[in-house]
Amino acid sequence: MSLYPTAATARHLWVALRWSSPALEAQWVARRIRDLVAGGAADFSEVAVLVRNVQALPPFEEVFHAFDVPYVLARGKRFYEAQQIADMTHWLRVLVNARDEISLAAVLRSPLAGVSDETLVRLKQRGHLAEGLAQCEECAELDPGDRKRLVWLREALRGSGGEDASVRIRCVREPPERPARRAPALVEEREERLARPALSGQYGSSVAVTSVALFQECPRQYFLARYLGWPQARLAPLLPEEERDETGPDAAELGRQVHDLLAGLEVRDAGPVAVELAARFQSSDLAERVARAARVEREFDFLLEVEEVVIHGRIDLWFEEGGELVLVDYKTDDVPAAEAAAHAQSYAPQLQLYALALERLTGRQPDRALIYLLRRDLQVPVSLRREDLESARAAVRTLRRAQEELHFPVRTGAHCTRCAYYAGLCPARATA
Ligand code: SF4
Repeated sequence: MSLYPTAATARHLWVALRWSSPALEAQWVARRIRDLVAGGAADFSEVAVLVRNVQALPPFEEVFHAFDVPYVLARGKRFYEAQQIADMTHWLRVLVNARDEISLAAVLRSPLAGVSDETLVRLKQRGHLAEGLAQCEECAELDPGDRKRLVWLREALRGSGGEDASVRIRCVREPPERPARRAPALVEEREERLARPALSGQYGSSVAVTSVALFQECPRQYFLARYLGWPQARLAPLLPEEERDETGPDAAELGRQVHDLLAGLEVRDAGPVAVELAARFQSSDLAERVARAARVEREFDFLLEVEEVVIHGRIDLWFEEGGELVLVDYKTDDVPAAEAAAHAQSYAPQLQLYALALERLTGRQPDRALIYLLRRDLQVPVSLRREDLESARAAVRTLRRAQEELHFPVRTGAHCTRCAYYAGLCPARATA
């Protein structure tokens, strides 16, 4: 099944940006599909559901069974690597943030707009591509066909907004034909050298909170892991060799299992360590407070604009208790007791960005933030003083500047011992 916008045959893809519970989200989608089919607006085979990641699939499978919604699962990287899905993802990114220039360039070159490289350069010569698109009718040098497509795209983007953002799509069984590239003009050979557009604002306009935290710890590590996507070997554990348990799942998988269990999901492959860590939280005084809280949100996804960068993340848990707003982040790190509190503080920038997001959402600054180190059963408070929140904001600014200048210095410290690049790409070990 392929997805492409079209003005002629309209279907709608609704994008749920935030739900308080994965099960509720899945139920909403299942009900909507059933309504569409019952009303004759669509067939089951004409509906596609895009989920954030494979971890988000189980509630959908469960609810689709319950609602008798037949489905075929296309999972794994290949689905997301399909050109149509990549194009659609870029489209959604531009809807969320019109100044995401890389995604906008991808949309302009995709069949959604299908403009030529020359048009792309001419738009960029006017500054940011979004500005070029906004002023496309004033650009006399543009190919008339491209200008028409640009006007359509601009109006389609303007027609969206807020939580009702919708994308008109056509669902077909086979990938649609890509429009043939237009042949160069035969009538009149012309060669024109276009001035190189001034480059500015060359930074990723969408960044995960965890990337900001990684950058804070060491800009070079961020560069290798997140900017270049250099493969990381299994990270060096924090415990001495004799205290390590190498038999369980790796840290990322264990973290997923524990977070899913604590979000109330059924985790069929949960290992004994994950079950034990989740049970430890559930029998804690903090869990009792959560049970009495007036409002509780788990696995809370958010988008937050900071310094013209869209930050995205997921808050493990936040709740309102006695008029106070408390946010909590669980960690499954295996760390010696003596180093636990200091280690927890390395996550402070992450929680401070969460606090900024919650403040934007609720209109008030959270009162407390806690890192819960599950293996040590230790709750470590994180400072939410205004100056600390400002330094989290400044970290985003520094990250943005580092990307613009491509400057990612090494920052050595105790964290190097668990860095995947310590013995390889990073020069830190050689100079230590
Ligand atoms: S070894 Fe240390 S300095 Fe080098 S990339 Fe890793 S964390 Fe940064």
